[in-house]
Amino acid sequence: MAATKQDVIHFIELFDTKMEEHRQELTDMDQAIGDGDHGINMNRGMKAVGEKLPTVTDKPIDGILKSVGMTLVSTVGGASGPLYGTAFMRSGMAVKGKEELDADDISKIFDAAIEGIVSRGKATTGEKTMLDAIVPGKDAYNAAIADGKSITEALAAAEEAGWKGVEYTKSIIATKGRASYLGERSIGFQDPGATSITYMIQAAKEAGEQAGK
Ligand code: ADP
Ligand code: MG
Repeated sequence: MAATKQDVIHFIELFDTKMEEHRQELTDMDQAIGDGDHGINMNRGMKAVGEKLPTVTDKPIDGILKSVGMTLVSTVGGASGPLYGTAFMRSGMAVKGKEELDADDISKIFDAAIEGIVSRGKATTGEKTMLDAIVPGKDAYNAAIADGKSITEALAAAEEAGWKGVEYTKSIIATKGRASYLGERSIGFQDPGATSITYMIQAAKEAGEQAGK
């Protein structure tokens, strides 16, 4: 069953709530290998998104996603604002004119989000960033859809792959972002951005589950 605009709105609300709930956890993670603001950044940004959301619900899905991205870019200082912001803006462009999102549209959203993150941050997988969760997440989503699974089941597979990616970030050296200043001392710590982006996938899965899809 395709995702409706209401499902997209609910996903954004759930992600907002999760960034509030996990603010301290993400901040502690960033304290270990960065400057200790990732939870604060994501909470501030998604809170602003949540406050603006009721004013943009008349827009089509692509307009809502674009607006989320613009709000994140303008409210979040730090690397994650432009990275998440570009991901959401590109996601909107990828589904321009769509009134509902089918399995293929959501695959295009994953691709567009990843392209946005890469074009902004110039990182690749294996550098201990959010890409180490969302890229395997996208692959698991596509594999599950190819296997005949529903969108929600495929998002659950993506989340599982995202958490595996988060685990993997513990084993590698950061070569992008602030954590790269630590070099080998970044080993053993999980990447905060990989963690927050897996919560984002989790929010999408829960929006699907709660819609009974
Ligand atoms: P800052 O590093 O400016 O303090 P945040 O703490 O909010 O910003 O975000 C840090 C997260 O951003 C990292 O955990 C990592 O996942 C992600 N990140 C940093 N640089 C890049 C990059 N070049 N490409 C992709 N993700 C990155
Ligand atoms: Mg930080």
